[in-house]
Amino acid sequence: MKLFTSTKTFQGGVHPAEYKELSENLSFEIMPNPKQVILPLVQHIGKPSNPLVKKGDDVKAGQIIAEADGFISVPIHSSVSGKVKKISTEITPSGFPKDSIIIDAADSNEIELKEPLNPETVAPEEIQQRVKWAGIVGQGGAAFPTFVKITPQPNQNIEAVILNGCECEPYLTRDYRFMIERTEEVIEGLRLIMKSLGVGRGYIGIEDNKPEAIKKLKEAAAKYDNINVEVLVTKYPQGAEKMLIKAILNREVPPGKLPLDVGAVIQNIGTALAIYDAVVKGEPQITAALTVSGYGIKEPKNLIVRVGTPIANVIEYCGGITEDASKVVIGGPMMGVAQFDFSAPVTKATSGILILTKTEENLHEETTCLRCGKCIEVCPIGLIPTKLSRFSQLDRFEDAEAYNITVCMECGTCTFTCPANIPLVQWIRLGKQRVLAMQKERKSA
Ligand code: SF4
Ligand code: SF4
Repeated sequence: MKLFTSTKTFQGGVHPAEYKELSENLSFEIMPNPKQVILPLVQHIGKPSNPLVKKGDDVKAGQIIAEADGFISVPIHSSVSGKVKKISTEITPSGFPKDSIIIDAADSNEIELKEPLNPETVAPEEIQQRVKWAGIVGQGGAAFPTFVKITPQPNQNIEAVILNGCECEPYLTRDYRFMIERTEEVIEGLRLIMKSLGVGRGYIGIEDNKPEAIKKLKEAAAKYDNINVEVLVTKYPQGAEKMLIKAILNREVPPGKLPLDVGAVIQNIGTALAIYDAVVKGEPQITAALTVSGYGIKEPKNLIVRVGTPIANVIEYCGGITEDASKVVIGGPMMGVAQFDFSAPVTKATSGILILTKTEENLHEETTCLRCGKCIEVCPIGLIPTKLSRFSQLDRFEDAEAYNITVCMECGTCTFTCPANIPLVQWIRLGKQRVLAMQKERKSA
């Protein structure tokens, strides 16, 4: 029998095999620094950062080596002490090459820190400035600059901050370990976000398959009467912003609108901790916490690694791959990106590296659509994936636009459920990119 059960959820969704058992009981390990780090100038949504260093410069860990370019951008700090080897175009986990600063690491492990601030007396503006300096980006996948999200704008009416503790992607256990190992600091991170935004109500949404974390969070939150730990049904994609808002606040975010439009701000557990570390410890975002898992890796682990560490080094540190390993994915299996070049680095928002075998990939041949309607049943935001995918295949982008393709959050729920094994989300993603480009052209015409 489950210790905690819930009926709070959203319409649709699926329940893929969890595979959490591979790593959920493994405490975080700190991986030794690599010999070289690759720091892409775009590790976030927004404009690339501008380099402040050149080949041959000595840098310290924690030093700003690229400044933010505009409002939606973040600075980048060196994640190791050492010497700038070059600035060149390197492959990134997105599959696209990007301008990057390559640093050869020295033996020194010291980090340049800012002075610690008292979380009880720190002013909202000081939190925002510290988070801006620290270069923090959202840990939930999108990598949006965090200081923008925690800085109130005129005419905004935010009533609640929700921390996403669902970690609904299979395999990933990084947020789970954070909630177990740094429970009090997660709550303090949430309080800092609430203070920064001037919001009086905070929630942590967590699925009912994590009883130990729920217990610890409830105990830690008990001393604050404005923070609730909300136990939610274990279902994918429960951690998506719109699904959390529906389950916790019973509000619908209309198509094309943002959580802000219904009075909510969502942050990830790892982001709350990065904010805590920046404010209370004076740390910039130079490490990434990630789960390395899958039956294709010899020693699954939860790791803290320096940003810029090549994927190949992480795999090697985890004992290497098994003979039947067949695919490497950055992120979770539902929304992650398959990798073809393991020299790509871990970036600020990397949450996992999965090494899957053929059996886990569950490869089946694609057949024609059975018109079963299952993809429509499970789409959490009420789209018609079968039509969207078809429009995309046929280059019918106006039709795809009319059927709201741009609203798709690329959660992969439709693809997971399709008995004909049609790569629906892959087609939809392509079509969405084309429609967004079309809309941009229309605006500039
Ligand atoms: S990927 Fe898009 S279309 Fe498919 S289920 Fe998710 S939101 Fe719906
Ligand atoms: S789930 Fe697959 S087979 Fe069924 S209607 Fe959708 S696309 Fe067709």
